[in-house]
Amino acid sequence: MDGRLGAELEGPTAVAERELPEAAASGAELSALVGRLRAIVGAEWCYEHEHQLRTYESDGLLQYTSTPRAAVLPGSAEEVQACVRACARAGVPWVARGAGSGLSGGALPVEDGILVVTSRLKRVLDVDLENQRICVEPGVTNTAVSAAVGPGLFYPPDPSSQIVCTIGGNVAENSGGAHCFKYGFTTNYVCGLEIVLADGEMIQLGGPELDPPGYDLLGAFVGSEGTLGIATKVWLRVMPSPETVKTLVAFFDSTRAAGEAVSEIVQSGVVPGAIEMMDARAIEASEQMAHAGYPVGRGAALLVELDGAERECEARFDEVVQICESCGSDDVRVARDDVERALFWKTRKAAFPAMGRMSPNYFVQDGVIPRTKLPEVLEKIDALAEEYGMLVANVFHAGDGNLHPVVCFDGRREGEAARAEELSGRILDACLEAGGSITGEHGVGIDKKKHMPKMFGEDDLGAFQKLRCAWDPAGLANPGKVMPTPRLCGEVPGVYRQHPLEAAGLAERF
Ligand SMILES: Cc1cc2nc3c(=O)[nH]c(=O)nc-3n(C[C@H](O)[C@H](O)[C@H](O)COP(=O)(O)OP(=O)(O)OC[C@H]3O[C@@H](n4cnc5c(N)ncnc54)[C@H](O)[C@@H]3O)c2cc1C
Repeated sequence: MDGRLGAELEGPTAVAERELPEAAASGAELSALVGRLRAIVGAEWCYEHEHQLRTYESDGLLQYTSTPRAAVLPGSAEEVQACVRACARAGVPWVARGAGSGLSGGALPVEDGILVVTSRLKRVLDVDLENQRICVEPGVTNTAVSAAVGPGLFYPPDPSSQIVCTIGGNVAENSGGAHCFKYGFTTNYVCGLEIVLADGEMIQLGGPELDPPGYDLLGAFVGSEGTLGIATKVWLRVMPSPETVKTLVAFFDSTRAAGEAVSEIVQSGVVPGAIEMMDARAIEASEQMAHAGYPVGRGAALLVELDGAERECEARFDEVVQICESCGSDDVRVARDDVERALFWKTRKAAFPAMGRMSPNYFVQDGVIPRTKLPEVLEKIDALAEEYGMLVANVFHAGDGNLHPVVCFDGRREGEAARAEELSGRILDACLEAGGSITGEHGVGIDKKKHMPKMFGEDDLGAFQKLRCAWDPAGLANPGKVMPTPRLCGEVPGVYRQHPLEAAGLAERF
């Protein structure tokens, strides 16, 4: 690969973000490819009709839509490989899709490209309880992993979407969840991957063992958002289930007071399994859906969960209650049993979907800040919401400083979606000014690629791009995502043909 970079990277890209490249192949070539894919997966698992493809036109970021030429649902890793190889031979881009619950547009199809959907790859391939390992196909849901190894073991990364989202999607996004403050993210649990690269080669990185020799390519793949290939097998570490779990929810007059409680708890040396916050708007929306008896009108709810050895949990739990009270909470509710604990969590996990009751449309943002900056950044978000005249609810992983502002808008009103997107961007700017990041766990996808140059310099982005080119020189795996201005790789094997991104003026070859 020629390591030289081409012209300067643009800042926030000027091109219309919704424009995605059309596939390079002609209509006839595409039809021939679809015929080959149909033969690989079987006619019933190859969707070509508009009414079938509507299901796949967007992921959880509903504001962006695009229709693929076909969606294929392979039934095995070998079928995935054959489909990807057929796309490579035809020079047609493809996008991997798990459950489509991503919130940054990562699984948005390429117009006239192929969507490779993993929903039939749901087999648990191996469970090794003694060595605390499990091997699954990528379409297995997050909750199914814990179910397969429980009750003695569990899989800690727990996105709120865990009942639907797939392990393949979790790997691609390096997903987190409420318990990642203590236990870490997906990357801390993936010890092996089988991957089909964009040229159709199948490779294995790692396996059941930990820390294999050589370059840490596993680390590069986890979080690569489907741009380096498609995972067809995943080996995961699982952990012993804690002896005890104790959960409370404390109510405060303000997010500032609740934020102070978060800092105090962490500074006292307690490491909660989870520490989650909801502001007044999120409490109101979730309560309408979950009916947990949360007091609507309070400024903030803080859900704290301790897990571990029983005696330690009991002792430290009292400490947490005292800290909440000393920071101004006059209403601390301790879950009396598993039913009540589940209700507390239901209320927290209902927060995103519940916003649908408050507003016809909303963006879920995902930014990170240093935990100690919580009060000032939340105030800044309130000020921005007022400036734009829009409702913003906050629900977040407070321990990690991982904010999820939910920007509400009415897409039927002219220009409001664009204003909501602009407001979301200004919230990310506030996170960056506070020393944080434009994403904690939802990925860059299509939504945030324009913000990448605010966080990374030209050389940093160039290094990302070189890595991508080494894995996928033809740029066929999920093009148009993550990188701000897509760049192509010089050494495309085979006869040169102009890439559609180049033709559309969206990328330069280097
Ligand atoms: C209500 C709600 C709550 C959520 N809560 C959380 C949360 O707490 N924490 C969190 O981290 N996320 C959360 N999310 C976001 C989302 O669920 C996660 O990003 C999840 O990992 C996506 O999984 P998926 O199977 O739906 O992937 P998809 O949305 O289908 O795809 C996501 C990305 O992964 C790629 N991909 C999918 N499968 C593969 C594969 N086998 N190999 C390579 N690439 C692949 C796709 O190309 C795409 O780029 C939430 C979403 C919703 C709707």
